[in-house]
Amino acid sequence: MGSPAMSDSSPILAGRWPGVGLARVVGLLEDLVSFDTTSRNSNLELIAYVRDYLATHGIASTLVYDAKGSKANLYATVGDPSKRGLCLSGHTDVVPADARQWRTPPFKLVEQNGRLYGRGTADMKGFLACVLGAIPTLAESCSTVPVHLAFSYDEEVGCVGVRGLLEMLARAEVRPAACLIGEPTLMTVATAHKGKRAVRCTVHGKTGHSAMPELGVNAVTRAAALIGYLDASARELRQAGLRVSAFTPPYSTVHVGRIQGGMAVNVVPDLCEFDYEVRSIPGDDIDTIEHGVRTFAQQRLLPEMQAVEASSAISFEELSSYPALAGSSKAAARLADWVVGLLSEPKPKIALSFGSEAGLFEQILNIPAVVCGPGSIDDAHKPDEFVALDQLVECSTFLAALGDRLTRCETGWEA
Ligand SMILES: [Zn+2]
Repeated sequence: MGSPAMSDSSPILAGRWPGVGLARVVGLLEDLVSFDTTSRNSNLELIAYVRDYLATHGIASTLVYDAKGSKANLYATVGDPSKRGLCLSGHTDVVPADARQWRTPPFKLVEQNGRLYGRGTADMKGFLACVLGAIPTLAESCSTVPVHLAFSYDEEVGCVGVRGLLEMLARAEVRPAACLIGEPTLMTVATAHKGKRAVRCTVHGKTGHSAMPELGVNAVTRAAALIGYLDASARELRQAGLRVSAFTPPYSTVHVGRIQGGMAVNVVPDLCEFDYEVRSIPGDDIDTIEHGVRTFAQQRLLPEMQAVEASSAISFEELSSYPALAGSSKAAARLADWVVGLLSEPKPKIALSFGSEAGLFEQILNIPAVVCGPGSIDDAHKPDEFVALDQLVECSTFLAALGDRLTRCETGWEA
């Protein structure tokens, strides 16, 4: 593992890109990528690395652990902790990497043709490295208006980890006034994203000989009826549901992604399980969309199943859920315009069809949040993930501009 002291002298970029501190950023990214923080693993080594790095710049960190103490969120304030300010947020976990499918080792940063390859480079350790690389500058500029860092765990499994941190902040006397989440958007400002709920449905029927199927309760065909209902809901949302053209697709979606049930063709299956998800655009309510299938199960399917076997059951278990980012308040619009104004290459604002922690910041802390970070989501979650060096330059330049504005107490999130 690298150490903070080594970060200023990355062999990848020695002597290149003077002026924007890129060598420091790449050195930090090299270290961050070397920690295998796949969501199933602990992130504590990476968190300790960040805490030690911040400590060398005189910044104290607060860690918020999970129930087992094997993972943690890190929260730190650069500047006056008694003031509100801007929160820069990102997750430390990454999706799994199968090394056999990669051209380079996934947990080693490799530069080729202006791109830095490695798991998490785009999603979203590149952003974390830019933020950490900007700390010396921000430490100088944030004396009046602070910048807070919120580095979470378990984002990739449904925005799970950050909730503990947000609950702590919701109880705190001083909470951030606004938040920027550095998910990969190619440094374009996103003001909204869809919400999502993933659900596991389990159908319990009654087994028996397939020669007398009416004596059993076929869990597979009951599950198929439920899936048919979900599919019809998806079609209705596509054809007649609320539309917001900024999203791709511009409507809420329902999708079934996994099914398991039955043992042999001559046995009535008594168990079937399937997973589905609802992704909602702001303005659509996930509860309302999902209510229909549960009502269909209770009112249409269960009575006839229980007439044959009283213990028949259909259960729904939420696997993960996070809210949409609406971004519709005046404060959110002001924040978004302010961030666009800090970019060296401003582009039109967008809406994201993938989720992020931004919706939770908006919902739990009731503060405006935008998404803007280096790299592309198109290069994330797949082999040979990379972030382009010029994206890191653009993000670092943005953070320098941010520090400059804060020095002059020019903020975008207050009236
Ligand atoms: Zn991400």
